[in-house]
Amino acid sequence: MSLLKVRYYPDSVLKAKAKKISIFDSSVRKLAQDMLDTMYENDGVGLAAPQVGVSKRLMVIDVSGEDETPRPIVFINPEIVERDGEMTGQEGCLSFPDVFFEVKRASKVVVKFQNLKGLTLKLTADGNLLSRAIQHEIDHLDGELFIDKAVSTIKADLEMTKHGFREGNVEELEAEWKEEQTEKEEQLKTTAVPQPATEPVAF
Ligand code: ZN
Repeated sequence: MSLLKVRYYPDSVLKAKAKKISIFDSSVRKLAQDMLDTMYENDGVGLAAPQVGVSKRLMVIDVSGEDETPRPIVFINPEIVERDGEMTGQEGCLSFPDVFFEVKRASKVVVKFQNLKGLTLKLTADGNLLSRAIQHEIDHLDGELFIDKAVSTIKADLEMTKHGFREGNVEELEAEWKEEQTEKEEQLKTTAVPQPATEPVAF
């Protein structure tokens, strides 16, 4: 088992569009296994390759509960081919330690992807954590981050200086952050922030 270093915002790799995988060799299998190990180690339910500094279209997800048998899924070159409905729920991200937001997503997604053998598969997820995780991780492959889609802040600010953004200038980041959030925070004043019903999870 080898653990990979998780990249934190504002690492530029998180903003890049990841490249398609065309060769399904042992290096891809090793990357997937190392990413799963890293995801479990960090208590995440999903992880995309850019989050470990690899700009390739590979992501791993496991939404099984703590006491259940692990059910990891490796997605290579995933693509959402159908989406329907809407759901809003809390999201965390391993690249933003201890920061959680309410994010609006499609309720149902049908995702087409390849497995480690290069076989094309289709999976449907509807109104659940898997659906949310798939959308969050595919965004990572496109260089998109959940903070850009947040509809409200659940927990941020102080935690950011404590754990997050270790590699950047915190003051500068906070200023930038506040600027970006002003509009969203104004909306917040008129809408109550729903309390999370369960422990927040990070992808
Ligand atoms: Zn994430």
